[in-house]
Amino acid sequence: MPPIPKGMKAVVIEETGGPEVMQYKTNWPVPEVKEGQVLVKNSVSGINYIDTYHRSGLYPTQKPLVLGRDGEGIVTSVGSGNTYGFKEGDRVVYYGASSYAEYTAASAKHSIVIPKEIPDGVACASLLQGLTALTMIRESYAVQKGDWILVHAAAGGVGLWLMQLLRSIGAKTIGTASTKEKLDLATKNGATYVINYKEEDVVKRVREIAGPDGVAAVFDSTGKDQFENDLEVVARKGTVVSYGNSSGAVPPFPIAKLANKNVKVLRPKLDNYIYTREEFEAYTNELFNFIIKDKFDVRIHEEYPLQDVKRAHEDLEGRKTTGKLLLRP
Ligand code: NDP
Repeated sequence: MPPIPKGMKAVVIEETGGPEVMQYKTNWPVPEVKEGQVLVKNSVSGINYIDTYHRSGLYPTQKPLVLGRDGEGIVTSVGSGNTYGFKEGDRVVYYGASSYAEYTAASAKHSIVIPKEIPDGVACASLLQGLTALTMIRESYAVQKGDWILVHAAAGGVGLWLMQLLRSIGAKTIGTASTKEKLDLATKNGATYVINYKEEDVVKRVREIAGPDGVAAVFDSTGKDQFENDLEVVARKGTVVSYGNSSGAVPPFPIAKLANKNVKVLRPKLDNYIYTREEFEAYTNELFNFIIKDKFDVRIHEEYPLQDVKRAHEDLEGRKTTGKLLLRP
């Protein structure tokens, strides 16, 4: 194993704002590996929509902050305490740490060895979005074969995972997106019907497709723009899973509104579904099986060099992307 340097390339924010606040540093201190951590030399770092919320200030964070929530690479040193048997040289993917950098001190609890059948970059491209989709269809609303399910932003990172998982269960799905290309991709990944939510009347179209009773559940990553529609099209006793804010946060609403149809509204966060090692390992191993055995298509929109991070955030927020964006440190 080559010696670990003192300085590294990293993308850092010291203030909140637009993509311009992200600073590309070439001599940022390599983090020290602490108890319960492994130091990973990243081969790729994942870009997630949440990074734009940390950058913009929608979700407050400490500064300075190296952005990023997931990555994959090689373990170069192992901290003290319980590190789940990791050793130098292990090829791992991890969740939850500052990954827009050459090295990341990752939580061992949320790291896992990547099976050799999974090619470079694919585990990182799958972890956060795939686990979000998988945990939600099990725990936010336990989808059953034959259920009508509406998925917004169906060609996005989480969206494409949802479409493939729902197809494997045998749900009847309606996917929304903003362009014909994205709708075609959603269809290819399992959407039974699609709606262009920029051009069509979502409520009218969902009722035409699923019938006047509506859908058993809605998985909505857009937030503000579709929330009222979600309450309209969800069936009596149905579930609205509002898990993101790509169009802005859902404003406060009177809880009594839910009494019209006894609707359940959830605002889940992945962390709480994979909090324990057992939960993280079980769901992640299942995810690996979907990739290896069931040949799920893990779509990578583009791999950006680390110094092109500004362009990557602009593409993501500008609705130009499908699937996952990766950075190459
Ligand atoms: P996506 O790949 O879905 O990218 C965002 C997509 O949202 C765009 O491509 C666009 O698709 C759609 N969109 C709709 N309205 C807007 C708008 N006004 N501005 C920009 N995009 C818009 O991202 P991810 O799959 O990574 O994440 C989706 C959402 O889910 C994010 O809000 C993210 O934070 C959240 N999330 C939440 C998690 C949790 O634990 N709760 C975990 C993971 C993700 P189109 O052009 O088709 O409209």
